[in-house]
Amino acid sequence: MSKLSIRDLPLSGNRVFMRVDFNVPLDDGRVMDDTRIRETLPTIEYALRHGARLILASHLGRPKGKPNPKMSLKPVAERLRMLLDKELARGENVGFSPECVGPEAEEVATQLEKGQTLLLENLRYHAEEEANDPNFAKQLSKLAEYYVNDAFGSAHRAHASTEGITHFMKQCAAGLLMEKELKYLGKALEHPEEPFVAILGGAKVSDKIGVIQNLMTKVSALIIGGGMAYTFLKAQGQEIGKSLVEPDKIDLAKQLLAEAKQRNLKFLLPVDHVVASKPEANAVIQQIGEGQPIPADKMALDIGPKTIELFSEEISDARTIVWNGPMGVFEVPGFSKGTFKVAHAVADNGGAISIVGGGDSVAAVHAANVADKITHISTGGGASLEFLEGKKLPGVEALTEKK
Ligand code: AMP
Repeated sequence: MSKLSIRDLPLSGNRVFMRVDFNVPLDDGRVMDDTRIRETLPTIEYALRHGARLILASHLGRPKGKPNPKMSLKPVAERLRMLLDKELARGENVGFSPECVGPEAEEVATQLEKGQTLLLENLRYHAEEEANDPNFAKQLSKLAEYYVNDAFGSAHRAHASTEGITHFMKQCAAGLLMEKELKYLGKALEHPEEPFVAILGGAKVSDKIGVIQNLMTKVSALIIGGGMAYTFLKAQGQEIGKSLVEPDKIDLAKQLLAEAKQRNLKFLLPVDHVVASKPEANAVIQQIGEGQPIPADKMALDIGPKTIELFSEEISDARTIVWNGPMGVFEVPGFSKGTFKVAHAVADNGGAISIVGGGDSVAAVHAANVADKITHISTGGGASLEFLEGKKLPGVEALTEKK
């Protein structure tokens, strides 16, 4: 990677401002899922072990530029204390600052000792954070000498704590989690082991056009499932009944199909379907076999068995796999089989580098109990999609180049 890593920084005795993603679900002041905190623990531990005076900053929810006690990071500081205590017997060293900028925050940051941690209150209590206000960024920068970004999930946004601040810091480096994300996603795009197979699903073609266009030039097969497949099937002139369709994207779907043909690229779409009149658990389910039209009053809500076989076969031959988006309405048990079978097919290919991103596909590999067989589970849904589109992420671009 061409960007500085936390491993390149002189941490000992220095104050380090670390942007993390602690945007965790809270219920009545309780952390309901601490995955995001645990994911950044290796970077926090690394900094503490090397004697940093650590200042952590994050956003949580959308407080719209004003303090909102329901979105306070205070409960997160408690949870971090507990986790650090368990891992490092270091929990007592986590402090909390009710302000993220200003004299009080600067005072506590100055008093931090080696190996101590301070978590700042929600950055988005200030509208200047999302506006990437230079004065606010400068105020944040006064808290530390060095900057580390470990919040891959926020790296596609140019905010004060992800981009603005970097203009006022000596050196800006990637944290270990950020590094891992860039390593796997970067390798997949730049030097994938072939065959490279991308699996895209989910509701809308419009959300993934950029990804399809960019990946088309890199993959040997593109597998499309989920609601977005039906705009392509419609473009091929198939009867899709009431299935999800984006009429204004049919022409584009035709162009993409033509381009795939011209590139000699496999473009796999569902050949059979699981349909019902509505995406609900009590709906009567019907299988539509290969070559059969989907009835006018039915919508396709999952891929059928033949499609599962076809997709799984392609996945089993791959050496690099990128998966983003479910194959059907997997939240409803009757329509989850395709997504789970794809999760198993990806996990069963032990010879491939597999990368899964996007909330639903990540949830599916966990629900299918195969998360430990996936090479890399991305922590940033939006950020990983933008990366796959080939876009530059402002939070990554802003880091210092390695000499
Ligand atoms: P996205 O956020 O675009 O990745 O879409 C995820 C959503 O797509 C999930 O909530 C799925 O229920 C939904 N989805 C997947 N397949 C279908 C389908 N065939 N019809 C309608 N919705 C679908």
